[in-house]
Amino acid sequence: MTSRLKNGRFVKKKVGDRVAKALTAMSEAKKTKILETLHETTQCKIPDGNCIVALEKLAKNLKCTSCSSLLDMEKMYGYNREGLHVKFKIKCDTCGRYNNVNTAESTNGVSDVNMSVVLGAIHAGVGNTGLNKILACANLPRVIDKIYKKYEVVVGQAIELEAKESCKRAASEEKELVIKNVKKLCDTLLNFCGSAKAMEADAGVQLVNHSNILKEAGLQVRVIVGDEDSSMIAAVRADNPADMKTVESGVTQVKIML
Ligand SMILES: [Zn+2]
Repeated sequence: MTSRLKNGRFVKKKVGDRVAKALTAMSEAKKTKILETLHETTQCKIPDGNCIVALEKLAKNLKCTSCSSLLDMEKMYGYNREGLHVKFKIKCDTCGRYNNVNTAESTNGVSDVNMSVVLGAIHAGVGNTGLNKILACANLPRVIDKIYKKYEVVVGQAIELEAKESCKRAASEEKELVIKNVKKLCDTLLNFCGSAKAMEADAGVQLVNHSNILKEAGLQVRVIVGDEDSSMIAAVRADNPADMKTVESGVTQVKIML
């Protein structure tokens, strides 16, 4: 069984159906895009549904950039939406200028409201599908995958940066505590009799000898506590040769690398 495409070519019905389906999807996507693009020549209705706005920002933006007159939302000539961030095009009654009115803060194309909801989705561990279910129930616009991925990258970089800063702060605090309590720590180590947890030798080497965070904080690990057969201590020592002393303490032997 065959079908005929728009260009006149005959193909199998299955292929024809697939092409028709793809064309319909493209047409629908184009319609959506058109609806979400600014219309500069004809007045349009205020969009249905709810919208998240930064009240202070919106109040400030609802003034004409040319004559400072208050703008009337009813004189909307279109809007542009990216995720939950909306930019209205409103004509000034006084001077006729078209003004772009942002509903929330946006810096270099990165919207605060979009970043917040994507961060919330990551924090809650729900992803874009879960986020859109919540938005749909609240009658808010959905965030398409492309936009979600864009903000996921931005938020991911911020999370990574904050995690590194947090580790640096913890390392600095640890350094200060060790300096303050060095004598107490030595006494504790000599009396230590607990069991060491199993630890991957390679991970130990990376954490002890090659941690950029510890290096940036000016912190060097000099003491490691482990049991007699700790392969991690051996690996750390092999990677960064130094004097290693073994001290027996109670039931468990404690190895101290100085
Ligand atoms: Zn004006």
